[in-house]
Amino acid sequence: MAEIRFENVSKIYADKTVAVDNINLTIKDKEFVVLVGPSGCGKSTTLRMLVGLEDISEGKLYIDDKCVNKLPPKDRNIAIVFQNYALYPHMTAYENLAFGLKIKKVKKKEIYKRVMNAAEILEIEDLLGKKPKAMSGGQKQRVAIGRAIVREPKIFLFDEPLSNLDAKLRVQMRIEIAKLYHRLKTTIVYVTHDQVEAMTLGDKIVVMDKGKIQQIGTPENLYTHPNNLFVAGFVGTPPMNIIKGKIISENNVAKFISDGEELTVNLPTKNKLEAYINKEIVMGIRSEDVKCDTNIDINKFATIEREILFIEQLGHEIYVYFELQKKQLISRMKPDHSMQKGKKIKLSFSIEKMYFFDNNTEQLIENAMN
Ligand code: ADP
Repeated sequence: MAEIRFENVSKIYADKTVAVDNINLTIKDKEFVVLVGPSGCGKSTTLRMLVGLEDISEGKLYIDDKCVNKLPPKDRNIAIVFQNYALYPHMTAYENLAFGLKIKKVKKKEIYKRVMNAAEILEIEDLLGKKPKAMSGGQKQRVAIGRAIVREPKIFLFDEPLSNLDAKLRVQMRIEIAKLYHRLKTTIVYVTHDQVEAMTLGDKIVVMDKGKIQQIGTPENLYTHPNNLFVAGFVGTPPMNIIKGKIISENNVAKFISDGEELTVNLPTKNKLEAYINKEIVMGIRSEDVKCDTNIDINKFATIEREILFIEQLGHEIYVYFELQKKQLISRMKPDHSMQKGKKIKLSFSIEKMYFFDNNTEQLIENAMN
């Protein structure tokens, strides 16, 4: 059993930096949770408080209903895998795996059993006689994970474990970590700044920014129901298109008009946005909901004409770049040879797929289109 609970936890460093600001988070036993957010958002500080390497300034941290604020790291039974592997260079992989257990005076036979078991799980049996300098980045990372496994901890923490690997290896290791979770069935907290990594790994993702939890959800939930502008812009590739504007009333019908007045959207009647008439507002739309088709239902789409600035070819799809409000606007579609740089085309925005955010609070205006 290893349930983790942060209750109103904050970390204020000596220089008064509020690194973590009143977070509440429960990580259930055997859950795989990913903490994700841009650099400086407080992920590592959260992890360090969990391990016990950093004091908690305010609030309480519980592991299995026991407050651990004052419990030293060695008594928490948590293993951490770091980005830089932290292997001993003069030791073989076997010795690296065995070292922590030796220190703890675990019997030789038991050490052998645990090391061989971890080596089998990670498929590194043939590396055991090698020293780190003779291993690739991916192999070193496996040994580093093995070192955590042999400790048989209650909780595994991964702190940006794939950051030093090249793109292809990262994808491969991601799959391996997902597989490892199914074999180990322990509580895992995984930290990354990479939203793609977070989305592909976690069932439960905690999005952080500026020391605060912005949203907790499944990958699908974060993508389709972002709570606020930050999550809308952070989750998803390419990021959501953001267009500023205001709501006006014309002949008793609410409309969204973009700043610059290029885009006008007739909103459905009886809409929550009616409360925003004459107020500034922010509209967001995913790149797949900005279409370049000519056969569209004009009641369901708002259109503007734009010039193609650039096309990014990804093989199975293309990103077509335009400009609106001096910012890039992206439409994502299947490869289409009629799309060419410099061409002017009609762009259609699916009204049903628009998100509207309060300009001041940046929160999603709930059920904006209902
Ligand atoms: P992340 O892991 O998301 O990049 P961190 O938890 O490392 O973020 O940092 C959160 C904030 O706390 C940042 O503003 C960082 O500069 C600050 N910070 C981190 N460690 C210290 C420290 N020892 N003293 C003062 N400020 C710190």
